[in-house]
Amino acid sequence: MLKNVKECFYPESLEECLKLLSDFKENGDIVGGGVDIVWRERKELEYLIYLDKLNLNYIKEDNNYISIGATNTLDELEKINILNGSFRNALKSVATPILRNVITIGGTIVRGYSWSDILTIFITLEGKVKVFDGEENILSIDEFLQYKKNSKKKFVLTEIDLPKFDNSYHFSYIRFTRTGNDIPLINEGVLVKLNGKKVEKVNIILGGRPGFPVHLDEVEKFLLNKELDENVINLSKEIATKTSEVQDDMRLSMDYRKNLSGVLTKRNLIKIMEEI
Ligand SMILES: Cc1cc2nc3c(=O)[nH]c(=O)nc-3n(C[C@H](O)[C@H](O)[C@H](O)COP(=O)(O)OP(=O)(O)OC[C@H]3O[C@@H](n4cnc5c(N)ncnc54)[C@H](O)[C@@H]3O)c2cc1C
Repeated sequence: MLKNVKECFYPESLEECLKLLSDFKENGDIVGGGVDIVWRERKELEYLIYLDKLNLNYIKEDNNYISIGATNTLDELEKINILNGSFRNALKSVATPILRNVITIGGTIVRGYSWSDILTIFITLEGKVKVFDGEENILSIDEFLQYKKNSKKKFVLTEIDLPKFDNSYHFSYIRFTRTGNDIPLINEGVLVKLNGKKVEKVNIILGGRPGFPVHLDEVEKFLLNKELDENVINLSKEIATKTSEVQDDMRLSMDYRKNLSGVLTKRNLIKIMEEI
């Protein structure tokens, strides 16, 4: 378990943090909650860089956004009472209470497993991340995943911003797992904005396909300007099953994932219909 670690650093500025990352190259890395770093036993790691002195442990809001500092743990995010409690319920379904006490929001987005609950939840809610790599970049989560893949620069993820949702927005998230505490085999988030009774805007995001989360475009198109009722929801389920882009992996077959994408879409839309 991280037997090769020689020294821990507590930079006092983002610039100092970047300099340490550049100096140590693959032998140094940032520690969020440390869950992934410890679990993966990265033998090359000799220098650990903690963000404790960078004041990234805040949750604040203005008229347009809720801003979440990167070092908040997932359980701290449960304080954010938005979308009729459905954001909090989504977070409470992730992993276990002990893990949620330790996993940071920054660490989980940067690690970015394709099955990550947090990626699906924050893409559905159109979250944006702030990344410092010498200058500040504000990126959607999809843009961030591309940035991480293509950019050679060292960076610190400093903040995640969620738009403020008024009462016309409704959200539901479901993860399908083998046991309650397992990682998701597939997951889905749905955000609906209503105008009166009609759907004005909708995000349906399927994650753990097993690829990275994507929109179910055909279902989103179908739902626009419709009222949510049993018939519309059943048709949405059929479209999701037919059009979802899913694959086999060691955990689940493609056919089973296809069926599940329909079932999750139906269940999420029913939850939203019941809330309206
Ligand atoms: C047993 C187990 C169960 C899990 N269950 C779930 C689950 O149910 N759902 C789910 O979504 N995820 C789950 N995960 C995945 C978990 O969310 C990730 O492993 C996540 O990276 C852990 O967060 P952390 O803060 O501990 O990350 P760390 O281990 O601290 O860091 C992960 C990576 O991110 C980098 N990093 C951290 N913070 C920053 C930052 N601010 N800026 C730049 N780089 C940074 C680190 O250098 C490292 O490379 C599970 C993991 C484990 C080990």
